[in-house]
Amino acid sequence: ITAWANVPMGPPDPILGVVEAFKKDTSDIKVNLSVGAYRDDSGKPRVLDCVRKAEDFIISQRLDKEYIPIIGLDSFNQAAIKFAYGENSAPLKENRIAVAQSLSGTGSLRVAASYIQRFMGSNTTILVPKPTWGNHLSVFHDAGLKTTDYRYLNKSTNSLDIQGFLSDIEAAPNGSVILLHGCAHNPTGVDPSPEQWKQIMEVSQRKKFVNFFDVAYQGFASGDPHKDAYSLRLFTDNNLPIILAQSFAKNMGLYGERIGAVSIVCNDVEEKNRVLSQMKILIRPLYSSPPISGARIAERIFNDPSLNKEWLTELKGMADRIIEMRSLLKSHLVNDFNSKLNWDHITSQIGMFCFTGMTPEQVVRLRDEFHIYLTSNGRISVAGVNSKNVRYIAESFHKVTQ
Ligand code: PMP
Repeated sequence: ITAWANVPMGPPDPILGVVEAFKKDTSDIKVNLSVGAYRDDSGKPRVLDCVRKAEDFIISQRLDKEYIPIIGLDSFNQAAIKFAYGENSAPLKENRIAVAQSLSGTGSLRVAASYIQRFMGSNTTILVPKPTWGNHLSVFHDAGLKTTDYRYLNKSTNSLDIQGFLSDIEAAPNGSVILLHGCAHNPTGVDPSPEQWKQIMEVSQRKKFVNFFDVAYQGFASGDPHKDAYSLRLFTDNNLPIILAQSFAKNMGLYGERIGAVSIVCNDVEEKNRVLSQMKILIRPLYSSPPISGARIAERIFNDPSLNKEWLTELKGMADRIIEMRSLLKSHLVNDFNSKLNWDHITSQIGMFCFTGMTPEQVVRLRDEFHIYLTSNGRISVAGVNSKNVRYIAESFHKVTQ
């Protein structure tokens, strides 16, 4: 066969490449801080009890495996948007949010991107924070859209460059699409404060932006799903145009189930029906209809009051463990190893990731001398930190930054 003779070898995924190197390391002190998936305090993946119970219930029902609709399970969709926008949200109560179950956060982003491409045009540019989750760029470019950066991280303080952010979006064309990480920004862990969100909203409103929210960590960041929905609800309550991609990978621990939702807030029911009809037309040739299992599990967790209660407690438990590891890591660095550097960003950042400020050279030293694996941008997944390895990580961080 000669058909593929000229296909070049593609570069490996930057994160999965780190995982490969970690696997090959035979040291027993090795630590993987690269992967964005929750680990319990013994470093193991965690399936939530509420998920196990929902699965047991679903199996006991002996349900069929027919196709579900193009836009997925309605009971899941309605619960997902209630979770995000809040039960008092006007567009929710007025039934004017077009929503479709999709393939976790990534699939939801892709459906939304294709919708933007089709109805706003191929010349549409999406404003994205610098840095952003690497896959955002691939998703948007593959959907035929262009991207431009707005400043986000102040590298010298590892905190938000709010002036740069505001002046870059101010300079963008009116009517642009702006991608906003609703909470727990990936990869930096740096979020705007409520006051800063108001400043961002004010510019967005004046410039008539379409606000494209990626919410992959609701409840996982602070432990409180309402608090983590602050930015989305602020913009929605002020009637700004909203597109939302939700993921339940992290907050329900349903990574491999690929369960998420894409929603678009409309002006009225009639407009919602038109938008929804077009979402169906987009989804049908992409993957026909979404998978059933994750939707059934998530639907149970949302709609069964006792499972829901249990979930919120487990969710807070995951968030609290991560918050605790942040403060332990900082405290070891400052109090046990007397690091003179400022490590406040470890605790002021939020969510699964922490931008440590490590240089690419320090990342290489951590890997080669200390068997600690993180991505070359200095991002660590705090989920990989636990009570057994935190002191060793702090000591190694101190040694490479001394
Ligand atoms: N958006 C952001 C910012 C993320 O960090 C992630 C997960 N790494 C996603 C979306 C989507 O992930 P998934 O497709 O697994 O839900």
